[in-house]
Amino acid sequence: MAQSRRTFLKTSATLGAAALVRPHDVFAASENAPAIAAPLSQFGYGDVMLLDGPLREQFDRNHAFYRSLDEDALLKPFRQRAGIPAPGGDMGGWYSWAPLSDIDVRPNNGFAPGHSFGQYLSGLSRYYAATGDKTTQEKVNRLVRGFAPAITPHFWDDNRFPAYTYDKMSIGMIDAHQFAGDTQAFRALDAALDSVMPHLPPSGLSRAEQYARPHRDESFCWDEPYTLPENFFLAFQRGAGSRYRDLGVRYLADDWYWDPLAGGENVLPGKHAYSHVNAMSSAMQAYFVLGSEKYLRAVRNGFDFVRAQSFATGGWGPNEEFRKPGSGEIGGSLTKTHSSFETPCGSYAHFKITRYLLRATKDSRYGDSMERVLYNCILGAKPIEQDGHGFYYSDYNNDGSKVYHPYKWHCCTGTFSQVTADYGISSYFYDHNGAYVNLFVPSKVTWLRGGDKITLTQRTDYPHVPATEIELATERAVEFPLFVRIPEWVGPKTSIAVNGSRIPVVLIPGQFAPIMRTWKNGDRVEVKFDIPTVLEAVDPQHQDLMAAVHGPLALFAVGQIPAQVQEKELLAVSQVASGSEEWRVKTEAGELTFRPFTAIRDEHYRLYLNVVS
Ligand SMILES: [Zn+2]
Repeated sequence: MAQSRRTFLKTSATLGAAALVRPHDVFAASENAPAIAAPLSQFGYGDVMLLDGPLREQFDRNHAFYRSLDEDALLKPFRQRAGIPAPGGDMGGWYSWAPLSDIDVRPNNGFAPGHSFGQYLSGLSRYYAATGDKTTQEKVNRLVRGFAPAITPHFWDDNRFPAYTYDKMSIGMIDAHQFAGDTQAFRALDAALDSVMPHLPPSGLSRAEQYARPHRDESFCWDEPYTLPENFFLAFQRGAGSRYRDLGVRYLADDWYWDPLAGGENVLPGKHAYSHVNAMSSAMQAYFVLGSEKYLRAVRNGFDFVRAQSFATGGWGPNEEFRKPGSGEIGGSLTKTHSSFETPCGSYAHFKITRYLLRATKDSRYGDSMERVLYNCILGAKPIEQDGHGFYYSDYNNDGSKVYHPYKWHCCTGTFSQVTADYGISSYFYDHNGAYVNLFVPSKVTWLRGGDKITLTQRTDYPHVPATEIELATERAVEFPLFVRIPEWVGPKTSIAVNGSRIPVVLIPGQFAPIMRTWKNGDRVEVKFDIPTVLEAVDPQHQDLMAAVHGPLALFAVGQIPAQVQEKELLAVSQVASGSEEWRVKTEAGELTFRPFTAIRDEHYRLYLNVVS
């Protein structure tokens, strides 16, 4: 461990020079500092505030929703299994506990008891960190106090998903500790680990390996032990103890996943989509904590394979499965399924992995990928309903629509609480030198640089208006570079001006543009984006099935949709007015209307049209 101590001292000195840090961004000066410090750091949740706009609206709605969850109902499956009083009603759906025989009578009832408890707790802890709302913190503290005495080994009897459920419990406890200052959370984390250990497989088994072992029925082969290392490594770094590091190492799926991916072999086809992208965050933690470059290489390759089979929206994995390149199955899915992208879970995994990759590589194209999923997927998810019905799949079928999943309290109700809580920390990053603007969203970030308090306030209606404005507040003039993401798709007329004068910086699409300056209070940065419209084929085997994509926005056709449209007609699609979410184009068959995913309500739509040249 001597090496990590040296690394820590070096890291802390570098950060100290710029003092761009808050206490929780530097792990305690101890043995558990990562071997590799990411070149880019995340701000704290409390450093970034979302301002009025669609992200803030979804953030507030989810914060209020998860804060209103009934605590006895949340604790009920744990209390029932522990044989202690379990007052209150059942949540129902996936969440409740029910005997296995019950599933024949009421399908999916008790499918994964208490599976999302930890995710609700994690989301609430992050909402508290972002807003300082005391009632949210108190709820987290009450839930941890209620959970601790209900931990029992019996909870895992007949449980399909011990690794999955424990993984979510652990992020709940370590976030309650880290963000809500919960002093009992680590004890509960240790007790939950002791209870689940005899029920976990010996290592990060693949699904194929789970099928090869004795099992009660197929659903018992769908656990996700290969996603465990991320939170084990996180628990270790946050001070929960070295056994979490050892377990992180033990559950790394080197043999069937990371080694082949690192060698450039695409092992994704046939694999469950969300959990294998989520697992990439485990490899990123392994890269940082253990210092092995293999894991970074594996994730970069793996993420490229995912991107190569993504829809125009940035979503991936029809029917929750990766496909064989060259098979034409992505295009084929447009007529075969309505379950095109598992949206809250997939977006949560996508945001996490693009944040890790951005931080590790400073490659702004991971930010491009994140914003595609933001505007075309998660920001358009239907709001969760009070009874637990939530949005699950985005539907890219040729006859598409937005619907709630029939089962209550499914997996996506867990990740939905976390992904929206993370919008702020996804928007900006920093290094020893300067700050990085990643997302163009109405927001405010404040930090200390040396002794100087600096605030950036971003105002924008991007991407519906192709511009953003960032105003700086500082008590005295201070010199540092501000880096702005220039998306890879921008055209040549993209420009940056400071206080109304265009600056002579060379803008390279697909890179961060540095603006070096001695900043004064009230300085204004204006970025104007030259946004092209392009047509993207669904896959190489279906070159005539195309979606219109305007910058980061995929456009969905609504109303009467002609059997085919001309390529040049479709390329002329334009907004009815600046800022509008209504797009139109004239075709031989008449006028055709398009909307971005966020503007779709109950109307049916079509993403990919038959295009003729
Ligand atoms: Zn899900």
